[in-house]
Amino acid sequence: MPAESSPVRHVLILGGTTEARRLAEALEPAPYRVTTSLAGRVGAPVLPPGETRIGGFGGAPGLASWITAHGVTHLVDATHPFAERMSFNAAGAAALSGVPLLALRRPGWAAAPGDDWHFTESLAGAAALAPDLGARIFLSTGRMGLHHFAHLTDPWFLVRSVDAPAPPAPPRLEVLLARGPFTLRDERELLARHRIEVLVTKDSGGGATAPKLAAAREAGIPVVVVRRPPVPTGVPETGSTAAVLDWLSGEPPRRPGGGAPAATA
Ligand code: NAP
Repeated sequence: MPAESSPVRHVLILGGTTEARRLAEALEPAPYRVTTSLAGRVGAPVLPPGETRIGGFGGAPGLASWITAHGVTHLVDATHPFAERMSFNAAGAAALSGVPLLALRRPGWAAAPGDDWHFTESLAGAAALAPDLGARIFLSTGRMGLHHFAHLTDPWFLVRSVDAPAPPAPPRLEVLLARGPFTLRDERELLARHRIEVLVTKDSGGGATAPKLAAAREAGIPVVVVRRPPVPTGVPETGSTAAVLDWLSGEPPRRPGGGAPAATA
């Protein structure tokens, strides 16, 4: 088939992560049209190459409409492993539009010898568990979800986030505005300076924020680890950019509305 008659592959990347940015960079020289979508939560996001759009779509139907209106042929959910609603919407929109969907997720973290990890299913679970492990708590779970800890009046909290958190928040709180990556040296110093007794983290995975786990291990500090929500049923998942490139080159472009759904919510 002559190149000019081949349909242009329009890849919509649901982003907000390092993995999404790396994928957009990897696709840049290829013959794809690439749009990255950001939620608009961060004030000054680091923008990826290619086209970008910012803000919610209006649920799965809104995303499906956007896909159809913009001739998207492939959908990659490269949102953060804890962006559960968006992943669910992506699965729903893929089913509605018939556009194939692949989830790109960095692998989760694995405990190493010397770690004292305490698993929980949610931030509410972390709020119930952490005060029993220490009175000075480093909440490295970002600014969203702080309300789960707002009723805890006794422990002292350190919160680290890119943008300032909004209330409700626990009363004994210090906010540190910072954007990763953080080095092991940074994290050792932080834990020591604030005399941290317990660390709370989501199982976000990836290298940018992993040194806090090594620093906690070295210092014998217990860690409350919030487990990931599952990827929606039926959605294929990969951990590597290369696998997404393979998937894109092997998957025939399918016009929105023109094929069977690749995934269901
Ligand atoms: P969420 O709870 O799963 O999604 C809430 C709503 O935000 C969605 O229903 C959607 O609105 C909108 N949204 C989320 N991601 C979007 C995207 N990439 N493009 C356009 N709209 C998006 O999401 P969240 O946990 O608040 O995360 C928001 C963003 O921050 C995501 O892009 C995620 O990758 C990034 N992030 C999240 C975390 C985390 O811990 N959750 C950490 C780092 C980065 P509509 O329904 O109106 O479409």
